[in-house]
Amino acid sequence: MNLILLNNDDFTDPTRVRLSGRRLEHIVNIQRASIGDTLRVGEINGLSGTGKILSLSNEELEMEVQLDQSPPEPLPITLLLALPRPKMLKRVLQSVSSLGVKQIYLINSYRVDKSFWGSPLLQPEKLREQLILGLEQARDTLLPEVHLQPRFKPFVEDELPEIIGKSDAYIAHPGATMPCPKALDQEITLAIGPEGGFIPYEVEKLQTCGFVPITLGERILRVETAVPVLLSRLTP
Ligand code: SAH
Repeated sequence: MNLILLNNDDFTDPTRVRLSGRRLEHIVNIQRASIGDTLRVGEINGLSGTGKILSLSNEELEMEVQLDQSPPEPLPITLLLALPRPKMLKRVLQSVSSLGVKQIYLINSYRVDKSFWGSPLLQPEKLREQLILGLEQARDTLLPEVHLQPRFKPFVEDELPEIIGKSDAYIAHPGATMPCPKALDQEITLAIGPEGGFIPYEVEKLQTCGFVPITLGERILRVETAVPVLLSRLTP
């Protein structure tokens, strides 16, 4: 936790917060902070700055906060991710949140196991927990939005064209002939397949929508590896 993220509910007045639970434990046991120490804090979807510890007990901590710094620039990438298995989804959400992606569409695909859509991890509160872990790591405050799209065809036909807008749209597909472009100075929409890959019908549908298949080369990477590599190659 390189930044303690604050919710509206934490504020007892405009410059004071009261924390308990996971954040209190982290501050006491990992950061080993005590009264008078100053920590980095940030308000969810707001500014970041410092928090000075005013009081500390086993149950709660009070800080005086000064918030005056903007969060890091978001990554100009909208991510479409074929819903991965829950364990992988957790890791991917944390890492893309750390990397600055702000729009994430979890989409269906023929090779997505149907049971994944029933995972408790897809509840808004659970998704938020993972995203917050990523933001705390990267000292960001802007919470990414996650959209669930359990029906591939209507999503691609009815919603995707507007989502793509004027961005460059790419499908990461190991079998593609075009190598992944580097350092684009452009808004990007990027589609990542499931563990088994997109089926040809899905690739065609996405191509009809304007997506261009790109490859990272002959090595087939796990989704959790492919995603950070693609994000860092595509952006300046
Ligand atoms: N079995 C599938 C690979 C799936 S890997 C196949 O052979 O096509 C899961 C996803 O990670 C892929 O759909 C793709 O979006 C991404 N990915 C993994 N390795 C990649 C590579 N070398 N190039 C481009 N995308 C890759």
